[in-house]
Amino acid sequence: MDDFRVKCKRCGRPAKPNEFVLDPEFRMMVCPNCIREKRQKQEVYAELNAMKKAKKEAEAGEESKEKPLGWDHEDDILEKAAKMKMKNSVKVEQIDENHVKYVCPKCKYKFAYDTVRKMPKNCPYCSSELSRMMF
Ligand SMILES: [Zn+2]
Ligand SMILES: [Zn+2]
Repeated sequence: MDDFRVKCKRCGRPAKPNEFVLDPEFRMMVCPNCIREKRQKQEVYAELNAMKKAKKEAEAGEESKEKPLGWDHEDDILEKAAKMKMKNSVKVEQIDENHVKYVCPKCKYKFAYDTVRKMPKNCPYCSSELSRMMF
């Protein structure tokens, strides 16, 4: 019974039925993997846009100067930064069937997350909301 898995309609990966979440953007029940990926993407893009904006503003401030060498590699650099970010973002490690080891992305506090009872709801250390971050 505990091993019962349902295939996610969006990504095809199997997950426990009680882990599925109705997502307003996908307009369907999706697995925790989909939610996690969506969240990571949103965070990365928000950061990239902020970086681009800051760079543009800096460039506008010195219009008379020549463009620095390699300025056209900006997108490459941003892409690399995005990949790094993905790697460094929330990692979960399965401890046992009902628990994952979770590292709070905000304060790096490590704790066990109960995937069945969906507890705790907040990071015990900095009280960031977990449900919005990944589950
Ligand atoms: Zn999925
Ligand atoms: Zn925290």
